[in-house]
Amino acid sequence: MSQTGIRERAKSALQDPLLQQAVQFTTDRLRTRKANVTETFGRWQAWRDRGRDIRAHTIAHLDFYLQQFADNVRAAGGHVHFAADAEEAAQAIVDIAKKRRAKLVVKSKSMVSEEIHLNRHLEDEGVQVVETDLGEYIIQLAGETPSHIIIPSIHKTREQIRELFTKAGGENLTTDTKALTGFARRTLRTLFQSADIGVTGCNFGIAESGTVVLFTNEGNADMVANLPRTHVVIMGMERILPSFADLEVFSHLLPKSATGQNVITYMSCFTGPRRDGEADGARELHVVILDNGRSRQLGDADFQDILHCIRCGACLNVCPVYRQIGGHAYGSVYPGPVGAVLTPLLNPGPEYADLPYASSLCGACFEACPVQIPLHDMLVKLRRRHVAQGLAKRGERAAFRGFRLVFARAGRYRAIIRSGRLGQVLVARHGGIDARIGPLRGWTQTRRAPVLAKRSFRESWPGLRQELRQGNRPPAAGTEGAPAHETAVNKE
Ligand code: SF4
Repeated sequence: MSQTGIRERAKSALQDPLLQQAVQFTTDRLRTRKANVTETFGRWQAWRDRGRDIRAHTIAHLDFYLQQFADNVRAAGGHVHFAADAEEAAQAIVDIAKKRRAKLVVKSKSMVSEEIHLNRHLEDEGVQVVETDLGEYIIQLAGETPSHIIIPSIHKTREQIRELFTKAGGENLTTDTKALTGFARRTLRTLFQSADIGVTGCNFGIAESGTVVLFTNEGNADMVANLPRTHVVIMGMERILPSFADLEVFSHLLPKSATGQNVITYMSCFTGPRRDGEADGARELHVVILDNGRSRQLGDADFQDILHCIRCGACLNVCPVYRQIGGHAYGSVYPGPVGAVLTPLLNPGPEYADLPYASSLCGACFEACPVQIPLHDMLVKLRRRHVAQGLAKRGERAAFRGFRLVFARAGRYRAIIRSGRLGQVLVARHGGIDARIGPLRGWTQTRRAPVLAKRSFRESWPGLRQELRQGNRPPAAGTEGAPAHETAVNKE
């Protein structure tokens, strides 16, 4: 278990009202935009089904499509580097930088480059690395890591961004969006022109042509890929689609799910480096394909589907846990529900074993996911695996042993309920329990716990059945004469 687990990090995030305000404001906006755009678009479930089927087919035949993609990248004049782990991937890019005697690398947003800690590796070799996605640029200046898959600086307020830019540029800026983006544009433009290498991620690799496809809104990735002499693409091995026909489906699913946009602003396709006679493009193209634990999920019926993920971030925007604590509390590159599943799978062992517990298991992530990955089921399976490995806490094990003892025998269960009814008179007030005691503490901090009913449904059932047989309908819940089942009353 990590020294500061998810609980400790979440506690500290909960004491940061600015962070919560910023995260909730943006996730609310993204959710509303997505709901509107998908409703107008229509037949959203049919598109989701198609997306899931394409991803399931591709991942089931990943060896074939990956080989086809690599062959076609090479046929188009590019170089392919397969990397078994993060070290190998970073080393491949460092070697390219050394060979090109690179001094400056410009980057567009890439979660995989975060996963392999590419910036640190390059900086250790004396290479300056500049993030050019606006959100990434902000967090690079802040010395932080992304806290959202799509919006890396979601946790920053405008005022915080103004302070960062003012400090970096020595200019006294306002919080006006145009002033802030204008500063970033002026600063980055000269760097695009003088960079030796451009590093981008890859939203999709098209197997039939060896094409790297990038979805961006700022146009920075086009500068990164086209202006420097060398373009390096870093991609997870699962980011393959068989054909351009499949890309059409994801050109709808991805932007609509990610930001509620009908279409992405720039969809750029790169097939090989610049050819003779072409006016622009990098002279050299390298594609680094990362495994780093992904191939371990292939063939695992419980977890293979996590490779269907297209990193849209929609599951973060709906997650009641992520929306309270933001991304840094997860302590991993991939935050939110997808991170709570993916990170422990890519990094088995105690370090991230507590992440699957950062979920209410409400299933909102599954509902939001454009390719219908059952994240909530996977979280339960990861918890089960955690317990099977003997990593569950002693108190938790004892609690579940007690639960099993009580629920395994009807007589025991009834006896416990009877003594609960007697015991609760010590703490119950006006039909509810406010006392912050024992395992109830977490619940009663913000709401009332219900009291046990005077008669359980099972105890009431013989009488109810009798009445039903005689044609008497029982009174509706909440009306006079209704059975005294508990009613939990929220304090809010
Ligand atoms: S799990 Fe689904 S919703 Fe979450 S990032 Fe991946 S594709 Fe998007």
